[in-house]
Parts: sequence; C-alpha cells; structure tokens
Amino acid sequence: MITALRGTHDILPGEVEKWQHVERIARQLCERYGYVEVRTPVIEREELFSKGTGETTDIVQKEMYSFEDKGGDRVTLRPEATPSLVRAFIEHNLEHTLPSAKLYMMGPMFRYERPQKGRYRQFHQLDVEVFALSDPAIDAEVIDLAWRLIEALGIKQTELVINSVGCKECRPKFHEALLAALGDDLPKLCGDCQRRAKTNPLRIYDCKVPADQPIIDALPHSIDYLCEPCKTHFTAVQAHLTSWEIPWRISHRLVRGLDYYVRTTFEILGETLGAQNALLGGGRYDGLVKQLGGPDRPGIGFAAGLERLVLALPEDTTLATTPRAFVVAIGDDGRAEAIKLVRELRRAGLAAQMEYDARGVKAQMKRADRVQARVTLIVGGDELARGEVTLRDMSNGEQRGVVRAAVVDEVRKLMS
Ligand SMILES: [Zn+2]
Ligand SMILES: [Zn+2]
Repeated sequence: MITALRGTHDILPGEVEKWQHVERIARQLCERYGYVEVRTPVIEREELFSKGTGETTDIVQKEMYSFEDKGGDRVTLRPEATPSLVRAFIEHNLEHTLPSAKLYMMGPMFRYERPQKGRYRQFHQLDVEVFALSDPAIDAEVIDLAWRLIEALGIKQTELVINSVGCKECRPKFHEALLAALGDDLPKLCGDCQRRAKTNPLRIYDCKVPADQPIIDALPHSIDYLCEPCKTHFTAVQAHLTSWEIPWRISHRLVRGLDYYVRTTFEILGETLGAQNALLGGGRYDGLVKQLGGPDRPGIGFAAGLERLVLALPEDTTLATTPRAFVVAIGDDGRAEAIKLVRELRRAGLAAQMEYDARGVKAQMKRADRVQARVTLIVGGDELARGEVTLRDMSNGEQRGVVRAAVVDEVRKLMS
C-alpha cells in the first residue's frame, strides 16, 4: 500500500465542508475590505526565501523543501507566502496596475518540521498583504480584518496581542540594551539563543526552552526603545484599535520568528488541541520589497493557519450543504426517463443523481438515504403511463404524484 507522506494529510468529505466554510468566509471578508486574490506558484527560486524570509530564520536554516531541478536550478516549495507576494508585486508592477496593492492568497505551504498533532509539513494558509501604504490606519485595518475573520468564524476565547519591534533606526539601540542586560547570563542560555545573540538578538524572545525563561522575562522591552516616528506610529495604531472597540494586550515577547518585521507585530491567540496557540499572526515589513529588488515600499500583512482555524471552529457551526435529489428508476422504460430527468434537474441548477447500475428499487432507495437526498423521485411504468413522477419528501416520508412537466419546479420548491 502506498500511503500519504508523513506530515501530509488528505482532507476528506466530513472534514472538507469545514474547510470550504472557512475559505468562503475568508474570501468574503477579504473582498469586503477591498483585497483582491492573487495566486502564485507553490514552487519558487530558493533565493527568494533565503533572502526574503531571512538566512537566520529556522525556516531557511532547517525547514525548507529545497532541491535542484532537472535543469540545475535551486528551487523551493514555498514555506510562507509573503516573499512570493512581494515578488509578484515587484514583477508585475502591481503598484501601478492595481487600484491599490491589497492582496490575499490561500494555499498550501511546505516546511520540513517534526510532525505533531495539528502540525503538518504541507499546511495551508490564508495570507493577506498590503503594499505601499504606511499609515498606522492600515496596520489597524489589517488587524481589524484578522479580528473580524476570527469573529465571523464564531471562534471564542481569543486574544489579540500586539507589539512594536522598532525600525532599523531604533533597533540597534535596543539590541545593545538587550545584550547589555543579558551580560553574564548569555552563556547560561540555550545554543539557539547564543546563536541569535550574534545574528538577530531580538529573536531571543522566541525561545521556548523552559530554563531560559526567567532570564528572558527580565530583559528590556522593545517599546521602551522606539524612536519618535516608531513611537508615534505605535500609539496611532492603538488609538485606531481603541476607537474600533477591538480589545488587545501588548506582549513584549511578540517578535515573530522572521527577520523582516519592523514596527507593528500582532497575533490572535486561541484554544486549539487544549493549548493556547496563535491562530494567525503578522506584522509590518517595510524593508522587504526593496530588499527583494523592488522599489522602497512599505508592507504589512498576516498569515492565518487554515488547519488551526478549522480545528478552532465551534462544534455547532452550521456548514452549508447542497440539497440533493435522487432519482429512482423502475424497469428499462423508467431508467431511460430517469436519465433524462436527472439531466433536466442538473440543467435547471439543481443537484441530482441516480444509480446507473440496474438495481432493485430497494437498493436504489437505500442509496437515496445514504446520499441524504432531500427529495427522491420515482420513475416507473405506472408513473410513465400517468404522465407523472412520484415525489417523496425525505424529511417526512410523504409521497405524491407530480405531473411530469411540473417536476423541476416542485423539486426546486422543496430544495430551496
Ligand atoms: Zn524606529
Ligand atoms: Zn534559548
């Protein structure tokens, strides 16, 4: 037996309806906020991520699916969407060809991580990005969209956490303070932290090693070292959130595990698998477009894990289902008429099916139950002779004859 690769999963009927629900609501909300969909390839040049996501990140150092293709190019299955959207923004000059560069995307991402419950090597994200806008109102709008998404999905007990990690002007001062505060404690931290102290000290806050926590908790906070423009920006973001009645708390440790973030970072936390996890997270990345060879334009966005959103959906979520009709045929004449009727119903925009193997009425009725038909139509010699079809309302079992010409309308009435 050939099975799915470790860390990948099939999404089967019974589960897929939840995915469709999450995707539908995400799409509706993005469109409502004026974001347009862009679909980029899942495979890109490796350097897009080594440069974009950042050489010092865990993603680039340990988790990328990279290989040389048959033509000798180094390629990577995208581990995140932001660099791909930045590339598309630059490559197609979207700044000038779109009314505003507010983009969204949904699709699979790939990271070679140790698979755990709820964590996969092929996982899926909704990604929302805004380019070329730097006003704090746009930070707040992106956060608002994220917040409304969680709300529209009915996910309860969530918390919005925000932070500002400063910019290239003020961050060096913060790094200095951070390293000074660490002082003699640095050798006591884990290997990853020692490495981060050299490459990107801010990311020491990402450390999950329990023994490191008391030392890290005592470190200075980035918001105490912001330059005036960063401070003004962060204050304004908070003022917008307040006026829109979105509750939040500042988390000094929210630096996010990527190199490109500046100023605003945020996450929405929620309960999944019995623990508090980030349902989505994002932030501002003003230097990234330029760094990837584009014009000097700011950017901000977030990525939401679709697996986590699906897991966090309330049990009582109403999932949209398409009502179905099932046509039961009796005898050869009935079969010929049933095939016609199924086609007629489908052309009228209704979901209809039948059993093509010539089987007994009982077996066909069983099948109608299994597909959870809303309406069953029975076509046999008697019905044909009367110019009728027998219609069975599956919700109450009531059965009646309907004139052949009126069948489509009758079914439509019951299925709407
Ligand atoms: Zn600054
Ligand atoms: Zn550590």
